[in-house]
Amino acid sequence: MDTTTYDVAVIGGGIAGMATALRLQAKGFSTIVLEAHGQPGGCAGFFKRKGFTFDVGATTLVDFGVTGVGGELFRSTNIPLPEADLLDYKLWLPDKEVTMYHDRTLWEAERLVKFGDTPQHVAFWKFLDHIASVFWNASRNGIKLPIQNIGDIVQAILAIGIQNIFLTRYIHWTFLDALKKFNLHNDVVLRSALGMLVEDTVHSTLDKAPLINAALGITIRGAGIQRAKGGMKGLWDHLIPHYKELGGRLVMGNTVNRVAMSDPIFYLHGSKGIFQAKKVVSAVSAEITYRLAPDGIRKRLESYVKRDRTSLGSAIVVFLGVPEEEVCYQSITHHQLLQDYEKPFGNGNNMFISVSSAGDHKSAPSGYRAVMLSTHCAIHEWEGLTDEAYKKKKNAIGDHLLNLARRVYPDLGKNAVIYEVGTPRTYHKYTGRPQGAVGGVRQTFENSNFNALPHNIGTRNFWLAGDSTWPGLGTVACILGSRIVADQVASR
Ligand SMILES: Cc1cc2nc3c(=O)[nH]c(=O)nc-3n(C[C@H](O)[C@H](O)[C@H](O)COP(=O)(O)OP(=O)(O)OC[C@H]3O[C@@H](n4cnc5c(N)ncnc54)[C@H](O)[C@@H]3O)c2cc1C
Repeated sequence: MDTTTYDVAVIGGGIAGMATALRLQAKGFSTIVLEAHGQPGGCAGFFKRKGFTFDVGATTLVDFGVTGVGGELFRSTNIPLPEADLLDYKLWLPDKEVTMYHDRTLWEAERLVKFGDTPQHVAFWKFLDHIASVFWNASRNGIKLPIQNIGDIVQAILAIGIQNIFLTRYIHWTFLDALKKFNLHNDVVLRSALGMLVEDTVHSTLDKAPLINAALGITIRGAGIQRAKGGMKGLWDHLIPHYKELGGRLVMGNTVNRVAMSDPIFYLHGSKGIFQAKKVVSAVSAEITYRLAPDGIRKRLESYVKRDRTSLGSAIVVFLGVPEEEVCYQSITHHQLLQDYEKPFGNGNNMFISVSSAGDHKSAPSGYRAVMLSTHCAIHEWEGLTDEAYKKKKNAIGDHLLNLARRVYPDLGKNAVIYEVGTPRTYHKYTGRPQGAVGGVRQTFENSNFNALPHNIGTRNFWLAGDSTWPGLGTVACILGSRIVADQVASR
């Protein structure tokens, strides 16, 4: 047993846990991170094969510019930003290609050419840009939801800006309401392209996604998307040494099974012994926290966990190590594909391709590139399968995604030196997430913003962080949440 009593123990070394621990360590608290897996990162982690490193889930970092939400983590802890490439995206719709340029002027021109330039289209984009810009700034200014006290109201008003308060009348609008306002809800191409971006970012549909969340999700390209050199391994190789230099302790291969409390100390029982701390941040999914927390905390979490079980989903990822010539003729390395306007999203009908940059030899050996293909899937489709049925299903979806990706790269995978497929079972195994549920809830009014799972559920000295909590999924959301949690931990 480690007899040290840490100021703060963090359960889970994913992006939310590591960002919270780093902030607190930089503020002068003694912290320990207890991580089950053999390396950090969780759903934003990586694995290595024959000189390649693959991102297991997240491949991109959002709003990591100096003034961005991600950038703030590095600025406030005095760490240089990780080396990364700023990305443009290409959307491959069934009948057209649209480049989502990071450059604002290029994007403004492209969207009018590709989606239409009627007065309604022009007015719609202006409206969307305005909402997104105000709420991206509110995120950068530290807005916190759900509102739990008067301080949160004041903070929200300041973050949004008094001059923009009138925009809060849209908090009960769905994204579809916005399309209807401009009479664009029957524009199949625009609706499908935006629907795909909303599904990818807030996992929801246009008729259910809150407008503000969807607007932020759609405009992540404008906020700036990057892939670190070396992918997620590059990010962690950069961040972890700084955390340790500040005195932080990361214990890997240590699954926390139970948290007990004997006031004022928490005891975290794990596979590598018992660790003590005055405060705990549980940066694992809410379902995992629910399983390992003391009774009082379980009680407070129960209604959220039960409510959100039906809104969870998972993903399939194909990992390929391929010769450079299979992918080098496209200068854009990140693509969103939609096959059929009529079919539901997921299982390949929409999918994402991420290719390591030319010259990124941290991701792939010289002459090769690392490629990740991903799509969302329903959890229940992967449950209760025999080993044989599972293998068959896994091979079939892997081949399906690879064939679809050949629309962008016709020779992809023909001479692959690595070809592996990850499924909900894989996520369950490597991130511990029950049923392999990844990426937070499919956002609706009932489970997000004012009804989201808060970081502070009213238990003294215990906080939640990560993509089950507000603002939800994605590295940028987890980093925003880590800021709120670290500020609360430090002030109480
Ligand atoms: C296929 C896919 C693609 C994605 N793409 C992007 C993208 O491009 N950009 C983006 O921003 N986001 C993306 N995301 C979302 C993003 O990866 C997640 O929202 C984010 O990484 C979640 O981080 P977290 O810290 O909340 O949770 P996790 O990543 O799950 O971290 C929790 C950690 O806790 C550990 N753990 C679990 N149980 C225990 C226990 N009992 N004891 C100790 N440790 C434990 C796990 O091993 C894990 O490391 C993607 C997700 C997926 C699945």
